[in-house]
Amino acid sequence: MDDQDILTTLKILIIGESGVGKSSLLLRFTDDTFDPEQAATIGVDFKVKTLSLDGNRAKLAIWDTAGQERFRTLTPSYYRGAQGVILVYDVCSRGSFSKLDAWLNELETFSTKHDMIKMLVGNKIDKDKREVSKEDGLRFARKHHMLFIEASAKTKEGVQCSFEELVEKILQTPGLWET
Ligand code: GDP
Ligand code: MG
Repeated sequence: MDDQDILTTLKILIIGESGVGKSSLLLRFTDDTFDPEQAATIGVDFKVKTLSLDGNRAKLAIWDTAGQERFRTLTPSYYRGAQGVILVYDVCSRGSFSKLDAWLNELETFSTKHDMIKMLVGNKIDKDKREVSKEDGLRFARKHHMLFIEASAKTKEGVQCSFEELVEKILQTPGLWET
């Protein structure tokens, strides 16, 4: 494939509380791996993946937070120019769900494209100690005009789907990605 086939480059962010599985979701999507020990300590910063959708190719630059979210020190440049965001919580952590509002506020403050597409992902559905129901996730997503998927970086469920639906919606939104 040469560059001429590439439709556009999109900037996608992954945000959410520390430990919810942001890096794991990203590595599952880009490399189809899941390494519980490595994912816990190493942030990946930035990954590029080309996605083919309906004959179109989108080059995704996906930004991960590498642990600094713990200290609430994501900078404006992290958010600048992003067309899409994946906001992650852990379905086994009520605390991570209750922080979603704070993340949306931060997004509102720093994002430069106010029609950016938002996807809410409830991760770790393979675990059995669920603290957040699917209905609660869906209700939050509807209220804030977000797409919604439950997923597991461990079993792969919902991972590919979440990125694809987000990108599909971005490409369907006039003015969001054309230069
Ligand atoms: P981050 O801080 O949001 O980037 O979270 P990580 O990706 O580092 O994941 C935190 C911990 O949760 C790691 O030990 C992962 O192995 C684990 N984890 C992530 N996703 C899942 C999942 O879908 N299921 C299970 N059981 N564990 C997960
Ligand atoms: Mg991480």
